[in-house]
Order: sequence, then structure tokens, then C-alpha cells
Amino acid sequence: MAYERDRTESRPLSDRVEELLAHEGPLPIVAAGDPVLRRTAEPFARQLDPTLLARFIAALRATMHAAPGVGLAAPQVGVSLRIAVIEDPAPVPEEVRLARGRVPQPFRVLVNPSYEAVGSYRDAFFEGCLSVPGWQAVVARHAKVRLRALDEHGRAVDEEFAGWPARIVQHETDHLNGMLYLDRAELRSLSSNQAMADRWNDPTPARAARDLGFLLPE
Ligand code: ZN
Repeated sequence: MAYERDRTESRPLSDRVEELLAHEGPLPIVAAGDPVLRRTAEPFARQLDPTLLARFIAALRATMHAAPGVGLAAPQVGVSLRIAVIEDPAPVPEEVRLARGRVPQPFRVLVNPSYEAVGSYRDAFFEGCLSVPGWQAVVARHAKVRLRALDEHGRAVDEEFAGWPARIVQHETDHLNGMLYLDRAELRSLSSNQAMADRWNDPTPARAARDLGFLLPE
């Protein structure tokens, strides 16, 4: 019935966040198919007071750690606000670190982020998403981006990211624009986690491109 739907939609976001935080442990992650992942998230404009914002960010971080993942956007826990967290200890072998630029990324909060390409070079690697569990696909992304955002204290951020951290920034910011990595992926590369473990563990997706029949950027 329409009035019920309207009541849910118009509920303040702070109530929704309070309700989420009332439960112990990691927040439930919403999966692809939930319209919240396809909406353009609202710019953060103090819809949450500073205490609630800090609690929400702590919960996002704990949920990202528990998953485990290297980034999590607020819409992935059902909150349509332009907030994301990123953090990557990058526990990978040296050859993978070199091939993918997977260097450690300290914990960061991105509020109202946007990015633009720096240069025209693109890198293509397998990536996955906590909202699309069980699958990975190759996505060609800008090798380097300029991020503009606010941090959790409202301070302006204007910074360049390269390598794997640039990939994480793009993936998480895309979530806030209602995009999933699959929208940009080479769909012929789509591989189950089992196939990834059995076949496509290489530092680069060159062999997967040959055997699955897709092109990598020049
Ligand atoms: Zn994701």
C-alpha cells in the first residue's frame, strides 16, 4: 500500500542509521538487486549529528573488516548517503604488488567524493564487490585519479591516487552514483570465486583474456 512505502522512504536517514547501529556486530550488507545500490546517494549535509556520524563510520569500518573487504560504501548497508570507507593492508606476494600496484592503503573516510582521471592510461584487473558475493570480473579503470572529497571532520581532500588504491577509490565512489563494478566490467571475464582460485590467480588477467576471449586495454 502506497502510504506504507511513502512512510518508509521519507523516514529520516538518522533514524535508519540509529536502527542499524542498535544491533551488535557487523552491519548486514545488501546484495545486487536492492534498488538502494542503484540510486544516486544523497550528499552528506549533516543528516547525522557528529556522534552518530562517528558511530556509523566505526560500524562501516568494522563491517568492512569482518567481510573482509578493502572498501565499503554507505548504500551497501542500505544508507543512501555519499559516505564510504577504504582500507587495504595489502597482504599480497611481491609479484602481485608490483603487477597490480597493490600497496597498503591506510584507513580513510570519503565524504561526498568525486574523481576524475589523471592521464589516459587504464589498468585492467579482476575485482569483486561485497554486494555481488561469489564472483569477480575484469574492469579497466583509470590508472591514476584525482579525488576530491571531505574527510570525516569536514576537511577538504584533494589528492591523487594510483595503483590499487585508485581502483578502490573509483569502485567506492561509483557505488555512490548507483553504479556497480559489473556495469564497467568485461562480462566475458566473469568468474566464480572457485574459478578464480583454481585458474586466475596470476598477477595479471592476460591468460584469462586469452582463454575466456576478451580484450585488455593496450
Ligand atoms: Zn562494491
